[in-house]
Amino acid sequence: MSLRPAAREHLFTNGTVDRYRRALADGLDRVATRISATDRPFTGVTPDQLALEVSAVDLDRPLGDVREALDELEDVYLRDAVYFHHPRYLAHLNCPVVIPALLGEAVLSAVNSSMDTWDQSAGATLIERRLIDWTAERIGLGPAADGVFTSGGTQSNLQALLMAREEAGTREHLRILTSAAGHFSVQKAAKLLGLGPDAVVVVETDRHRRMSPTGLARELQRCQEAGQTVMAVVATAGTTDFGSIDPLPAIADLCLAAGVWLHVDAAYGCGLLTSKTRRHLLDGIERADSVTVDFHKSFFQPVSSSAVLVRDRAVLRHATYHADYLNPARMVEQRIPNQVDKSLQTTRRFDALKLWLTLRIMGADAIGELFDEVVDRASAAFDLLSEDPRFEVVTRSQLSTVVFRFMPTGLPADLPADLARDLADRANLHAREALAASGAAVVAGTTVDGQHHLKFTLLNPETSLDDIAEVLELVAEHAGRFVREQTPDLTYSVG
Ligand SMILES: *Cc1c(COP(=O)(O)O)cnc(C)c1O
Repeated sequence: MSLRPAAREHLFTNGTVDRYRRALADGLDRVATRISATDRPFTGVTPDQLALEVSAVDLDRPLGDVREALDELEDVYLRDAVYFHHPRYLAHLNCPVVIPALLGEAVLSAVNSSMDTWDQSAGATLIERRLIDWTAERIGLGPAADGVFTSGGTQSNLQALLMAREEAGTREHLRILTSAAGHFSVQKAAKLLGLGPDAVVVVETDRHRRMSPTGLARELQRCQEAGQTVMAVVATAGTTDFGSIDPLPAIADLCLAAGVWLHVDAAYGCGLLTSKTRRHLLDGIERADSVTVDFHKSFFQPVSSSAVLVRDRAVLRHATYHADYLNPARMVEQRIPNQVDKSLQTTRRFDALKLWLTLRIMGADAIGELFDEVVDRASAAFDLLSEDPRFEVVTRSQLSTVVFRFMPTGLPADLPADLARDLADRANLHAREALAASGAAVVAGTTVDGQHHLKFTLLNPETSLDDIAEVLELVAEHAGRFVREQTPDLTYSVG
């Protein structure tokens, strides 16, 4: 039994680097062992089961020992975590992460720079600025572009809409136009900005779930006639459900003609900035006034890593306040770089380091290759599903999602249509839950035109078409069994 270290020995200082090395090596070892042993993305544990483990921990009785704490962590977290690196994790926009970024994560949290001011970050501020410039250049925003890293797409969208609101020239009757497939963070931002409940106007989409330019023109016109000011059009470059990219050139034309701020939410589609074969799908993004990118989605970065970019750096002033203790106005005169002047946050992580090491170790082309591979795979999965009579698939994604549903076949001809529809809904809901409970695969669910659907979001190049085919078999099994159990008096075949 070793003596408990004194409180100070837990501090990371120049006297404790050996303890730091040992603790992190133990932690790394634990994670590596766990990752190499996971044979499914999830154990299927229920919240109730896990809550027992978590609440049994007495937080006022420290273990004092790294290994004991890691043993305990196995029970409360590691054993039952959801593992995005597993090829059958197919649910949300969570990516397996690249090793250079994990290295960055370890370095940035140990050094613990804070991105608000130069005197808390030094080189970190310059590195973040280089990466903002690099991203803006890939987008094509022009020489006056700037931006800042954020905690995620939600914050990026909020900041973009804050700037758009401040540039709108009025606070009265403001409207934001976005498509039905846009992200709900637009609604949240509108609420936080104090806009009314009707502020977000939904523009119709075409059958591929892309914003309809005709629909947009109509809404712009309608708002004008109603005396409303459109403060922003939010186009989505990669909708969360369908991976659809709104027609950016046509939307940019309409925004230009109407004098309206164009924000492009490329939280998902930003990965195409590094693609050698699909960059053209983002054509028109360079005409945006502001852009959201989520590196923690299609750049294979750990959460969190995101940025908001603007065409005209002057608009970032809408997030600027001066505090005497932190960033007095004279610092601007002295040309001391302060990122806090551009950010909604004050203390802020040096998330940019992860992207920096990613670009320095593996390079942007390698990121593009990984993303291209999952986009190809999603397209192959779409083909697989369209040839399978048990399933109905919605639309071919331009990115890496596949939205589909199981359709019970062979139902009696006299079964009323609403009952058949309800049965299909419940079968798909059930299949998703049963799959997660078994831990064999994790898929997402969503609603399309009022009907429950299932969704794959492919971000792992290790997910093979065989994995996808096998998961579809499991879906069909679970859903088919459910349908049979729900309708024991009906005789029909499923699948
Ligand atoms: C994920 C997503 C967001 C929100 O980003 P977070 O990083 O989760 O906050 C916004 N827009 C789109 C299109 C997204 O897919």
